[in-house]
Amino acid sequence: MARRVIGTLVRLTSPALVLILTSFAFANFAVAQEAIFKWTQHDRNRPQPPVVTSGEASTQERAGQPPSDAVVLYNGHDLSNWESVKAGPAQWKPEAAYFEVAAGTGDIQTKQGFGDCQLHVEWAAPSPPHGEDQDRGNSGVFLMGLYEIQVLDSYQSKTYADGQAAAVYGQYPPLVNASRPPGEWQTYDIIWHGPRFEPNGNLLRPAYVTILHNGVLVQDHVPLSGPTGHHIRPPYKPGPEKLPLRLQDHNHPVRFRNIWVRELSEAGQ
Ligand code: MG
Repeated sequence: MARRVIGTLVRLTSPALVLILTSFAFANFAVAQEAIFKWTQHDRNRPQPPVVTSGEASTQERAGQPPSDAVVLYNGHDLSNWESVKAGPAQWKPEAAYFEVAAGTGDIQTKQGFGDCQLHVEWAAPSPPHGEDQDRGNSGVFLMGLYEIQVLDSYQSKTYADGQAAAVYGQYPPLVNASRPPGEWQTYDIIWHGPRFEPNGNLLRPAYVTILHNGVLVQDHVPLSGPTGHHIRPPYKPGPEKLPLRLQDHNHPVRFRNIWVRELSEAGQ
């Protein structure tokens, strides 16, 4: 795995970034070691993890329940947690249990900013399907508004590998194509660690993402080369550690439901 990631990075990025990544991997290991050796093994004074009531998985018929400590981004009623990126209220269409892209109204984003997180998103491509390739059930989940996890109808429908459903768009194809047919609800469970910058603006650590598509591992802690681009690989730009989550209007009536996020901290345990 490590060899594959480093190989990909060598193709994608500069040797300098590879050096940074290698250094960060060792620094990360040192932090993990510190967290372990801070406590005697089996120390009963070691703080207990917080208790969380687990959620309930969704079915095709109905949305499940988020874990008790999640920030719920779609409550099944309205888009009050969202706004249009063009300013003003989100113009997408909330229905009974889901909401749908209103083509041409523009992307929407959360009012709240998020950085490192666990994100759950459910979506369904239009049925019957229309179009082909990138023009078929296209939307997207933009982490921190900059890094797109592709939403696309990739069920028995071909496009370029790094642009299909669950791709880190333009960077990594999914490990497998776990797509369900159009009209069926699909899940993304995303573990996101945003980039970090030094005070002088240099990249300290790239963003990493892990994704399960319909419960299947499709991205395994891959380092991103920078923000999403189309026929371009934009470099990282220093910015805040938390930014709004954005959903893409690609002119297709893709549906979303049961969106929730759990913010992650870097504190050792
Ligand atoms: Mg897209």
